[in-house]
Amino acid sequence: MKPVYLDYAATTPVDERVLPAMLPYFMEQFGNPSSVYGQGRAAKRAVAQARAQVAALLQAEPEEIFFTSGGSESDNWALKGMAFALRRAGRGCHIITSSVEHHAVLNACAWLEQQGFAVTYLPVDVAGRVQPQQVKDAVRDDTILVSIMTANNEVGTIEPIAEIGAFLQAKGIFFHTDAVQAAGHIPLSVDELHVDALSLSGHKLYGPKGIGALYLRRGFRPDPLVHGGSQERELRAGTENTAGIVGLGKAAEIAREELTTEWERLSELRDWFMAEIKTIPGSWINGDEEYRLPGNVNFGIEGIAQDTLLIRLDMAGFAVSAGSACSAGSLEPSHVLKAMGQTPEQAASALRVTLGRFTTKDELEGLLTVLQQAVTAIRGQAGS
Ligand SMILES: *Cc1c(COP(=O)(O)O)cnc(C)c1O
Repeated sequence: MKPVYLDYAATTPVDERVLPAMLPYFMEQFGNPSSVYGQGRAAKRAVAQARAQVAALLQAEPEEIFFTSGGSESDNWALKGMAFALRRAGRGCHIITSSVEHHAVLNACAWLEQQGFAVTYLPVDVAGRVQPQQVKDAVRDDTILVSIMTANNEVGTIEPIAEIGAFLQAKGIFFHTDAVQAAGHIPLSVDELHVDALSLSGHKLYGPKGIGALYLRRGFRPDPLVHGGSQERELRAGTENTAGIVGLGKAAEIAREELTTEWERLSELRDWFMAEIKTIPGSWINGDEEYRLPGNVNFGIEGIAQDTLLIRLDMAGFAVSAGSACSAGSLEPSHVLKAMGQTPEQAASALRVTLGRFTTKDELEGLLTVLQQAVTAIRGQAGS
C-alpha cells in the first residue's frame, strides 16, 4: 500500500506546478540578480515577481517583503533585529510573547534574555488561546515588542491577532506574528491584523524548504542578522536564492488562488474526522474547535501512549505525528499542551493528524480503521 502522508504541519511536498517554475533558475537563468547583464536582469525580474506574489498573499506591498532562509530565520530576525534596534533607540527592553510559540520564537526570546532583555511569557486558556486582555495587562512603559503566533503548529489554534494588533498599534508597540502555519491556509491581511511583521515559510505552503519571507511594515528597520552585501535593501545580505524565491512566489500565488476552496474543503474533512475521533471511547480533542486551522486535528485517547500508537500507525503506512516535528525524539512533553493545563500523561497521548492539499476522505477512513484496531489491540494487551 502507498504510504499515507498526514503530517502537513511538519512540511508539505512541493506542488507539481512549483518545481517547473523553479527549474530554469538553476541552469539557463543562473545569473546573479545583482549583475547588470541580461542573465542577471532576468534573475532580478524573477525575484521581483516573486516578491509581488508573496505580498499579494498578505495584502502587503512588494517592498515590504524580505526573503530569508525560512520561518526560523524570519522569526529570529524580527525579534532580535527589532529588539536591538528599539533598545538602542532608548525605547526600552521588555518583550511579550506567549508560552505556546514555536521554538524559533521561544529560543530567540531565551537568547534575548541573556542579552539583557526582559521577556514575559503569557499563559493560554485550555484551548491554547491568548486572551487579548492579558496582553493589555502585561504591557509596560518599556515594552518594545510583542510576538504572538497567528496559529499554533501543534494544536492548530488560531490566536486573536487582529484584536491584539489593534490595541498594540494604538499604543505604538511593534507587533510580530509567526504566521508560518497560517500563511496560504487561512486568509491573512497585514492591515486587518494590525501586524508590523509577519513570518512565513516556503515548505509549509507547498513550496521548497530553505526559503521564507518576513513581511516588515514600511518604516521599520530591524538590525540585520546577516551582514554583508546590499541585498534585500541592505537588510539581509547574501546572493539571493533565486530558484527558492521563485518557488516560494509560485507557491504563494497558487495558495492565494485556491485558498477559499481549499479552506472549505479541508475544514469540512477536518470536522468530519474530528467527529469520528470523538466516537472512540476515552478520546478528546486538543485545541480550539472553532478557531482552528482547516487541516489540524490533534487528539488524545485515555490510556494510550502516543509512541505505541505512532509505531503501529507507521507500520500500517500512516505518517502522523506526536506533536511538532521539531520536538520529535525528545522525551519532554509538549510545551504547548503543558501551557494548556494538561498533565504529562494527557500530553503523552496527543496525536497530531494534519491534512493538506492531497488528502482524501479515503485516506482518513483508512486511518480511522487502523486507529480503532490499534486502540482495541493496545487496550486488550493492557487488560490481559
Ligand atoms: C515550521 C515552523 C517554523 C519554522 O520554519 P522553518 O522554515 O522550518 O524554519 C516556525 N514557526 C512555526 C509555527 C512553524 O510551524
